[in-house]
Amino acid sequence: RHLKKYFPLESGFFRRRVGVVRAVDDVSFTIREGETVSLVGESGCGKTTTSRCIVRALDPTDGEILYRTYEGNVVDLARMSQAEIRPLRRGIQMVFQDPFSSLNPRMTIYEIVSEPLRVHNIGTRQEREERVADLLRRVGLRAEYMRRFPHAFSGGQRQRIGIARALAANPRLIVADEPVSALDVSVQAQVLNLMMDLQDEFKLTYLFVAHDLSVVNQISNKVLVMYVGRVVEVGPPQELFKAPKHPYTAALIASVPRPDPFQRKERIIPEGEVANPANPPSGCYFHPRCPFAVERCRQETPQLEEIAPGRLVSCHRARELELAV
Ligand code: SF4
Repeated sequence: RHLKKYFPLESGFFRRRVGVVRAVDDVSFTIREGETVSLVGESGCGKTTTSRCIVRALDPTDGEILYRTYEGNVVDLARMSQAEIRPLRRGIQMVFQDPFSSLNPRMTIYEIVSEPLRVHNIGTRQEREERVADLLRRVGLRAEYMRRFPHAFSGGQRQRIGIARALAANPRLIVADEPVSALDVSVQAQVLNLMMDLQDEFKLTYLFVAHDLSVVNQISNKVLVMYVGRVVEVGPPQELFKAPKHPYTAALIASVPRPDPFQRKERIIPEGEVANPANPPSGCYFHPRCPFAVERCRQETPQLEEIAPGRLVSCHRARELELAV
């Protein structure tokens, strides 16, 4: 609720503070049990910073991160120390973007996958070996791979190992930061299908961070579109991709390459730089790039408003615009 993460902007030899970068600026949303919620937007929009605050890899500047524990208590992760969070980490695990750098090359696959079990003191050595063998099989790998090192595996296989590690301690929430963007397209589909199968099997909840709209379209229950640290549109993917209500969402969809070279669509957004979060424009942050901007957009910041059940948009003209995609 109202999550903010500001980074100080420093300059010169004495690192004088000259401003702040509003990487995440008042973001609120809910992830229900069993759902997949996706954060999408261009680089620098704040999606990764939001996800890192949620797992407390970064300390938020302000706001609440309310989390329901295994016991049913609601706790605010934003107010807890790292020592207080440690026992809760079992329930919140991450899958990282780069399967080549996220696995320690000096550890065996057994050591990597069993790490959460060791950290949380779960099971004996033999029980951990059985658990690792089972997890490897469930992610489509052979149990005997546990004796090998990461260099022996392809990108897709390494991401499967990363997923097995995330599953080891029976988490409730998996935060996946661009989990397939470093993989070949054919392998991407396999890993996504695996993640969806595992969601059913293990009753998982996912927070997905992605810039590829075609990926989130397949897997999400709810999509949040971010621009310069703020959420500009929320909705179920089928509705959001078919009939976006925010000009930025429409532009993102229009920028997805289409497989038909004869199907040419006019760009509905002029080229332009993403606004600088250290010095954002007045009013709506998107107004310098928006072809529908009017005077009000330059002066007044639009708020996220519900325009239909489950559809929230932050645009002064959301109710009147018919956006083509
Ligand atoms: Fe465009 Fe104005 Fe809507 Fe911002 S508020 S997206 S500038 S129409």
